[in-house]
Amino acid sequence: MKAIEFNVKYQLNRICAIVEDMLALSGMMRVSFGAIYQRCGKPTCWCADKNEKGHLCTRLMWSDNNGVKTRSVRQEDQQIVKEAVGQYREYKEIRRKFRIEVIKLEKLLDEFERNATKNNKLKMGYL
Ligand SMILES: [Zn+2]
Repeated sequence: MKAIEFNVKYQLNRICAIVEDMLALSGMMRVSFGAIYQRCGKPTCWCADKNEKGHLCTRLMWSDNNGVKTRSVRQEDQQIVKEAVGQYREYKEIRRKFRIEVIKLEKLLDEFERNATKNNKLKMGYL
């Protein structure tokens, strides 16, 4: 096998491994995980004081066609949500690498095409 063909197949295997890494992240959530201050609404609570910011609450934020949405996360679900958000961050990073590697594959295929067409021209001589 010629070097360029070897390089194309090697690059293809790299891309396959990257895709496998992405497919392993099926538990991801496309949300951001943050904390905001919120008043609970009870008139006797300390947070009713205008000088207080309120209770620190963990919230999920995401946007859809209707705008930005937020939802609070139960204490017992926080760990699993953090992991799911982390998976999405990891997915985006791997996806970025995937695009770079696909561009490299395209360049290798361009090189393969140039070499193959040049070599085949030489073999026949009269074309
Ligand atoms: Zn309160």
